[in-house]
Amino acid sequence: MSAQTVTGPVPASELGFTLPHEHVLFGYPGYQGDLTLGPFDREAALNACEDVARSLLSRGVRTLVDATPNECGRDPAFLRDLSERSGLRILCSSGYYYEGEGATTYFKFRASLGGGEAEIEELMRHEVTVGIGSSGVRAGVIKLASSRDAITPYEQMFFRAAARVQRDTGVPIITHTQEGRQGPQQAQLLLSHGADPARIMIGHMDGNTDPAYHRETLSHGVSVAFDRLGLQGLVGTPTDAQRLDVLTTLLGEGFADRILLSHDSIWQWLGRPIPMPDAILGAVKDWHPLHLTDDILPELERRGVGAEQLRQMTVGNPARLFG
Ligand SMILES: [Zn+2]
Repeated sequence: MSAQTVTGPVPASELGFTLPHEHVLFGYPGYQGDLTLGPFDREAALNACEDVARSLLSRGVRTLVDATPNECGRDPAFLRDLSERSGLRILCSSGYYYEGEGATTYFKFRASLGGGEAEIEELMRHEVTVGIGSSGVRAGVIKLASSRDAITPYEQMFFRAAARVQRDTGVPIITHTQEGRQGPQQAQLLLSHGADPARIMIGHMDGNTDPAYHRETLSHGVSVAFDRLGLQGLVGTPTDAQRLDVLTTLLGEGFADRILLSHDSIWQWLGRPIPMPDAILGAVKDWHPLHLTDDILPELERRGVGAEQLRQMTVGNPARLFG
């Protein structure tokens, strides 16, 4: 079993400590229209990201999954250059963002003319099996996303298409839930179209502080991700302390083999620099890709979580999911 990284296949056993949901580059759709005042300095961005990658490597992180959707600035050639320069392994995504914040017009228009879902499936299949554009990089995961209170008809097209592509190719699927909602529904929808629960990670579930909701999601055989560590009080997120309470509860119930940990960090925003009010800067001070190794893992140890469980979540589960 091997994982498809931006520099080629890597045996699952060599993935090592893996962050399953981060963003090297990210821009909300629309940034493409603001490049006059927010131009992209590729070399400066590469240098800055290389520093981050080397810091991660110095902590023992070996691999990350870049979860940036196609229309939010996904850049496979940039990821490959970063990986080659730094030595950090990277998996690139194929997929579109959720309806509320994605670029929906393109496939909605096509769907209105009878295209849409079949075309999305064709796109994902091509990016997974042949490559993304002319980059020569193949997508290593499919990224899906749904809204807070429903998986909308627009979003369902992507879920059904992804399940079929996964059924045929085995490509892992990672998802975005909005505020940790629709986890069980995402799992059900994917499984009902042939996806393999062992290859599905339901993401941002740490937005939900109800352990019963996690159990219901896990009952479908999928894995769940606590992958917004450090992101507190923004976009509907709880605090890390609340997250770790839920996490330790689930670990106590024996779910260590189906939980993954990450930050959903953004290393370089595309478009103009983000104007961050002081109050928000304080809230996101821990939202960076070293937070897990520097703060969260030691805190989990203090809470009595054993080294074997920590290794399971950071090394064993990613190897099974992405390998
Ligand atoms: Zn994300």
